[in-house]
Amino acid sequence: MGLYQLARRVNAKRKAFIKKQAGKIMSPVRRIERVYPPKDGRFVAMTFDDGPDALAVEGRDAGLTDVILDELRRWGDKVTFDVIGSTAGNYPDEKGADGTFMWSGNSYDHYPCFGMDQLAGAKNRPELVERILSDGHEISNHGSTHTLFGRMRAVYGARHHFETLQQVIGDLDDLHAYMLDKFGYKMRLGRPAHYIDHIPDGSDAYDAYRVMGYNYMAASFDGAGWQPRDTYDLEVRDMVEPLARALEADPDALNGQIIFQKDGCNMARRTPIADALPQQLKILHDLGYKVVSVSELMEMSPFEDMDPSVPAAAAVKYLLGRGHTVGYKNNTFGGEKPITEEELYIMLAPPQAFREKRHMGPKDLYLAARKAVRLDIGGASGGDIIRAAESAGAELGELAMAIRDKKTVTRLEAAPAVADMVRALDK
Ligand SMILES: [Zn+2]
Repeated sequence: MGLYQLARRVNAKRKAFIKKQAGKIMSPVRRIERVYPPKDGRFVAMTFDDGPDALAVEGRDAGLTDVILDELRRWGDKVTFDVIGSTAGNYPDEKGADGTFMWSGNSYDHYPCFGMDQLAGAKNRPELVERILSDGHEISNHGSTHTLFGRMRAVYGARHHFETLQQVIGDLDDLHAYMLDKFGYKMRLGRPAHYIDHIPDGSDAYDAYRVMGYNYMAASFDGAGWQPRDTYDLEVRDMVEPLARALEADPDALNGQIIFQKDGCNMARRTPIADALPQQLKILHDLGYKVVSVSELMEMSPFEDMDPSVPAAAAVKYLLGRGHTVGYKNNTFGGEKPITEEELYIMLAPPQAFREKRHMGPKDLYLAARKAVRLDIGGASGGDIIRAAESAGAELGELAMAIRDKKTVTRLEAAPAVADMVRALDK
């Protein structure tokens, strides 16, 4: 574990830097770790990776996903199941050592375990998908075969991984089409296997999700269900105590947050979630929390830094609802920052403008937006924006008109005018 902990620490520093940079880049794909805490109650999202899973839970007469679903039903909670298609094609392979990152296979992952692939995955267990959906939960795309998008030498040095964006999209689309064809269900979120973003051909997870029309589902609170300990009881405790402690220190600590859990085995091939989940849910409900899916949480509060109750937030939500790109890559909105002409064009462009199957940097996005939006804005002052809106034929609301005489317009101030322009351009 030493090497892994070190890699994690280095990675955490690198990620903090990348996150800061990502607060300057507008992106059709936002990486959702958490949202601005909703004010009308306490809400937390839970995600369950690697299922659905029919592996029998010890001492129970049911498989793991059914055990989780029964517990959620008891509390009336809804969550997001981050599913795979099937790992049955990930052979030839050898079983790896228990308690290591290769526990489920040396070259690939196998869920629920090596040699038992038929017990898990949406394609092998359609009856579980059926139940997840009829119980009202959300499903997201964790990759059809759970293959790594690229390398992470320190931890998964020997692992097979994808080489190109085309391959990653092919794998995502395989599961996407299956869910659409068989269940009429359209997925809107994705999470890469083991959070590995970089694809060796120079593209990344954001490119793949942009083409798919997804947001990137991350998490802010680790439910710790993947970590192996000496005994099952210790593993259950690991999943309950940090949550209890965080909420004891601050009962609002998890409001607007996303919890990472597993609908599958940990590295010791045990499933502590079966006994941890009832305790977690009791603690949360005792404090008045409601557990929701990630999409539900994002509907209440789309960004990390935007209070969804401010009046201009309605315009931002309208644009998001039409699939427009309005926020930054790290799921901030930056409402107080002055808007630039580049940002205006990107906000105005319809979602189809950004679906090209290649790597697109900030410059590429701007050029694609310019091509899609045939409107001369000529600046980002209030006067420029109002003139452009009028030439698009927009009927401007009061909030939009309020920026007319401003030299600098903030992103939040601009949003109502942009929404009015989009309404006009759609006609
Ligand atoms: Zn996974």
